[in-house]
Amino acid sequence: MDFQQIFGAEPTTQATAPGRVNLLGEHTDYNEGFVLPTAIPQSTTVQLGFSSDDQHHFYSQELDEKVSLARTGPTPQGFASYVFGCIQMVSAEQPVPPLNVYVTSSVPIGSGLSSSAALEVATFRGLRALLELKLDDVQIAQLAQQAEIQYAGVECGIMDQMASSLADLGQLLFLDTRTLERQVLPLPPETEILVIDSGVPRKLAASGYNQRRAECEAAARQLGVSALRDVSDPQAAESLPEPLRRRARHVITEDNRVLEAVRGVSAQRFGELMNASHASLRDDYEVSVSALDTLVEMLQTTSDVFGARLTGAGFGGACVALVRAGQALAVGQAVLERYNRQGYAGRLLVPEAH
Ligand code: ADP
Ligand code: MG
Repeated sequence: MDFQQIFGAEPTTQATAPGRVNLLGEHTDYNEGFVLPTAIPQSTTVQLGFSSDDQHHFYSQELDEKVSLARTGPTPQGFASYVFGCIQMVSAEQPVPPLNVYVTSSVPIGSGLSSSAALEVATFRGLRALLELKLDDVQIAQLAQQAEIQYAGVECGIMDQMASSLADLGQLLFLDTRTLERQVLPLPPETEILVIDSGVPRKLAASGYNQRRAECEAAARQLGVSALRDVSDPQAAESLPEPLRRRARHVITEDNRVLEAVRGVSAQRFGELMNASHASLRDDYEVSVSALDTLVEMLQTTSDVFGARLTGAGFGGACVALVRAGQALAVGQAVLERYNRQGYAGRLLVPEAH
């Protein structure tokens, strides 16, 4: 069912934004640290038009769900909270007429490739076009993050929205999440990216994430800094009680790995940094699960793979690997066959298998 069939009218405008995969710098953004994501080929498109009554109407093709709601709230649940949140962020500045919003996406939902940020950024881009808003891409990312925090109730950092709003395919976006200073960098020479979904849904991700955030805040307080980003020597963490010691050690070493990678390292060294990141996420940050460990180890021990790690918040979801150029599809298919023989339902996400 297209826009016309759902709403009985034609859309006025449409906008698209990509998902993202993070190569290095996991769980560092809410510690004001460094991240290194890139855009993925999958994207979300939002079509917008003016509604003929006084309500907003949202439809998601993926969920086949239509929601109608009053413009003044209350905030709806589920996917509508993201769209409504974006509209409300704009309404704080100027009146927004009742809208029809049609969402369609190829970004896997809930795999750690940031379908939520793609939805928000596409919605803001659509609102910018429809209402002629004076917003640049950084402002869109900031508003999108606030929409997710205030309306979807997810205490996210800024990485996902900055990546969806500013990252390009095939290039790395090095971002300082405190200052929002950024730099576009090439992938290591002769490499490409492989992303595989473990097939294990993220469980306890929200509670685990909030707990890690609180632990990091406690660690920063005890170290006398405003955020763990201000600590660069992993030795500093040794004075902390467990589990704060391990949590802080992950964040400090992860920031250091990003900073080393962006100084321009070989594909092999970049891969080693990704492997070290996974070990740190597994052992110190404790956000991996056995399916992710299995998949990552299979990738790490396959030839033409420089390195691999879980990507996104963890607790399930996807893995990313850096692979010799031209080999990602073959490596992905071979590893998936072995992985799925163990009873998993993994699937190839990037490159897209046609
Ligand atoms: P992700 O890692 O994919 O961002 P999140 O849990 O942060 O996972 O966001 C997923 C949520 O975003 C979904 O549960 C849904 O509410 C919303 N969402 C994302 N993409 C879509 C879509 N195409 N249609 C409807 N809702 C979507
Ligand atoms: Mg998300």
